[in-house]
Amino acid sequence: MMDTTQTGQHHDFVLSVAKEVIECRAARDGHEPGTYNCVEDQEGYIVSLLNALRQWSHVHEIDWEAELKFAQGLFRADLGVPDTPATLENMACPKCGHKGSFYVEVSSVILFFEDGDTVLDDTEEQWNDYSYCGCHACNHDGRVYQFRTDSQQDKENTDG
Ligand SMILES: [Zn+2]
Repeated sequence: MMDTTQTGQHHDFVLSVAKEVIECRAARDGHEPGTYNCVEDQEGYIVSLLNALRQWSHVHEIDWEAELKFAQGLFRADLGVPDTPATLENMACPKCGHKGSFYVEVSSVILFFEDGDTVLDDTEEQWNDYSYCGCHACNHDGRVYQFRTDSQQDKENTDG
């Protein structure tokens, strides 16, 4: 387990790798070194790189979905998102502090028939830390993990 200082250094390292890779992609399109705005990414090189990685995985028979899932787990650990599921009780708007009601994007499983019939599967609506979330009071939006009070507290735990 890494302590907070190592986590901070690790975070800087990961961000510097991302910047380097985006700049590398920009250079392929003729951008002079260090001139491309990697933060705004107006050319869409992040998408281009994701597509490239996906094609690489496809050609070399690497399980892309498993890679994504693994990466999401690392991201979660880096951000200090707790392992327990998010509930409305542990959520608050990071902007205005509102509690108790949020817009959350959910996914459902539906059984489709070719004649047009549909049957809603009786599983519950699915949402998680990465689902879209909006504040019912001020409309501030983001992802569920950004609204979690337990992970917002963890973010202040940096000493780097
Ligand atoms: Zn709000």
